[in-house]
Amino acid sequence: MSEKPVTLATLEQQFREFLLANELRQTRERFAILRAVYETKGTFTIEDLQERLKEVKFPVSTGTLYNTALLLVKANLLVRHPFSSSTTVFERVYPNQPRAYQVCNNCHRITIIKGQDFNNAIQSYKPRQFTVSHRISYVYGICPKCLREMRKKLKKLQATHPTPET
Ligand SMILES: [Zn+2]
Repeated sequence: MSEKPVTLATLEQQFREFLLANELRQTRERFAILRAVYETKGTFTIEDLQERLKEVKFPVSTGTLYNTALLLVKANLLVRHPFSSSTTVFERVYPNQPRAYQVCNNCHRITIIKGQDFNNAIQSYKPRQFTVSHRISYVYGICPKCLREMRKKLKKLQATHPTPET
């Protein structure tokens, strides 16, 4: 698959076709939100997106933002991450670049996996009779900080509650 970067114009065209196919209006707000999504690097929340739109002097209500974000998810332009944090986390779709994340089960911290081997493996999977729009993987576990804290806590507990001798 080619590594050519996807331009905003391509995404706007994709969104236009999606709105047309679903008989939805092509409003200025919807396209301003798509632009803000495109310009945001990494993961973000609805609040982050609202801030970003305020910065570019295009304030949009939370309701409109949330509804448009869901439309962008349906249009394959935005990903809603299944992270178990309390806020919904989004990220734009990168059609030509696989994305892989490590998620801590304890603190819910998310880090991008940059290992080329892992990403190449995801990219090399070419299913038959299935058109791939984008590739995302999640690896769940415990981050080093949480692991350290857990070990420290365990040590402290073991010191105060020594195991009975047999
Ligand atoms: Zn953690």
